[in-house]
Amino acid sequence: MADRTEPRVRDTIHAGGEWRAAVSGAVREILDPADALPFAVVAEGDERDADLAVAAARRAFDEGPWPHTPVAERAALLRRVAGLLVRDREALGLLESRDAGKTVEEGRVDIDCVADAFRYFADLVAGEAPGRVVDAGSPDVHSVVVHEPVGVCAMITPWNYPLLQASWKIAPALAAGNTFVVKPSEITPLTTVALIELLTEAGLPTGVANIVTGPGRTVGARLAEHPGVDLVSFTGGLASGTEVARAAAPSVKKVALELGGKNPNVVFADACATEQGFDTAVDQALNAAFIHSGQVCSAGSRLIVEESVRDRFVAELARRAERIRLGRGTEDGVECGPLVSAQQRAKVEAYVESALKEGAVLRSGGKRPAPSAERPGSGYFYEPTVLDRCHREMRVVREEVFGPVLTVETFRTEDEAVALANDTEYGLAGAVWTADAGRARRVAGRLRHGTVWINDFHPYLPQAEWGGFGKSGVGRELGPAGLAEYRETKHVYQNLAPKPVRWFAG
Ligand code: NAD
Repeated sequence: MADRTEPRVRDTIHAGGEWRAAVSGAVREILDPADALPFAVVAEGDERDADLAVAAARRAFDEGPWPHTPVAERAALLRRVAGLLVRDREALGLLESRDAGKTVEEGRVDIDCVADAFRYFADLVAGEAPGRVVDAGSPDVHSVVVHEPVGVCAMITPWNYPLLQASWKIAPALAAGNTFVVKPSEITPLTTVALIELLTEAGLPTGVANIVTGPGRTVGARLAEHPGVDLVSFTGGLASGTEVARAAAPSVKKVALELGGKNPNVVFADACATEQGFDTAVDQALNAAFIHSGQVCSAGSRLIVEESVRDRFVAELARRAERIRLGRGTEDGVECGPLVSAQQRAKVEAYVESALKEGAVLRSGGKRPAPSAERPGSGYFYEPTVLDRCHREMRVVREEVFGPVLTVETFRTEDEAVALANDTEYGLAGAVWTADAGRARRVAGRLRHGTVWINDFHPYLPQAEWGGFGKSGVGRELGPAGLAEYRETKHVYQNLAPKPVRWFAG
C-alpha cells in the first residue's frame, strides 16, 4: 500500500556540489498517479537556478579535472556507478514505479537497463584507441585525429522512462569527459535526483553533475538557449523538441533530439499460419501496444495486419486486452499501471472520442475502469483500447497518442503494407511479422524507421544506435554514435621539419 505519511520537502537542485532549494523558494508536489496523492515535494527551479547550474558546470569543465581525467579512470567511475545502481535496484525500481506509474517489475528492469548503459559506455571508451593517425603524405608530418569532450551539456528528459532516458545521455557524456546539467521532467524527477547522489558517492568531481528540477518552459527553455551550454540533448515530444531546437539556434550549439513515434507493427498472414505463430504475434502485439500503458516512444500503436487474418487476430487481441490487470504498480499481480497524469489521460480520452466519431470500431476498452482495491478511483487509469477499422486519415492514426490505444489497419499486398507503415511523419521504430525470411528482409529494408524488429517488438541493445528518421529526431543515442554525440573531433597536424613555404615572393 502507498505510504500515507506527509511527504518530505527535499532540496533537489544540485549546482557546484551543493544541494539547494530553488532561488525563488518554490516547491512542487510529486503525485503518485495511482491515487493522485503527493508522495514527495521537490524544489521548483526557474531560469535563475538554471543559470547557477550552468555556471557550475562551466567552471568544472573549464577549470576542473574531469575533461582531462584518464579514460581508464573515467571508465572505472562509470562502472562504480553501475555497481551502486545494482545495490540500490530495489529502492530505485520502487521509486520509478511510484513516480511514473509503472509496475515495480518494470521499474526494476529500467534500473537494470540504466546500469547496462553505464557499463556499456565504460567499456566502449576504455577499449578505444586514443586517436587515429592519418597518413599526411609526408614523413615530416605527424597527423592525428583525436576526440575531445564537447563541453557543458544540457539534458532535458521526459516522464515515461525518467532514469533510463537520463542515463542514455549522462553515461556517454561522462565517458567522453563532459560536464552537464540535467533537467528531468517536472512530474518525475526523483530517480534522476537519486542518480546525482550516486554519482557523487562514486567520486565524480564537484560541479561535473548538476541537476535543476523544474518546468520545461522556464528551466528547460533557459538551458536550451543558454550561451554557456555547448550541447543540448532533448528527449520528449515533437512540439517541445521543436521549441528546443529553435531556442538553441542563435547560439549554434549542438542539438540532439529524441522525439515521438507512431510505430507500425506489420503482421503478414503467414506469421499466423501455425497456432504458435498466431499466439506469438498476438501476444507481442499486445506487448507492443500496452506495456507501460502505451506510454512508450516506440510503442507499436499501429497494428497493420493482412486483411485475411484481421478478424481472428483482432478478436483474440481484444479478448486478451480486456484481461490485462490494471492497478497500482506496487500491487502484486498488476500488469499495467495508470497513465502518468490527469492531463495525459484527458488527451488519450480525446483521441479515442475523435476516432469513434471518425468511424473507428471499438473492440475493447475505451473507458476508465471501475475503481477497485488495487485501483483507486482517484488514479489516472484507462483501459487498454483496441480500435478496429481505422484508416490513415484519422487523427488517432497520424498523431502520437502516448497511451493504451491500438489502432488497426489492414493491407492486401506487401507494397501496401510498406506504404502504410511508412505513411507517418515520424520514423522511430517498426516491426514486421512474417514466416518468409526473404520478405522479412525486403520489408525491413524498405521501412523508414530508426529501429526495425523482425518477428519481435521492443528489444533494444545498448551497443546498437537508437533514434529516429523524420520527425522522430536528430542524432542517435546508444552505440558508438551515442558516444560521438558528446564529442568534438580535432585534427592535430604536426610539422616535424618546418621551413618557409615561399607562397609570397616578397
Ligand atoms: P514533453 O515534450 O512534454 O517534455 C519533455 C521534457 O521537455 C520535460 O522535461 C519538459 O519539462 C521539457 N520541456 C517542455 N517544454 C519545453 C521547452 N519549451 N523547452 C525546453 N524544455 C521543455 O514530453 P513528455 O510528455 O515528458 O514525454 C513524452 C514524449 O517523449 C513522447 O512524445 C515520447 O514519444 C517522447 N519520448 C521519446 C523517446 C525517444 O527515445 N525518441 C523516449 C522517451 C520519450
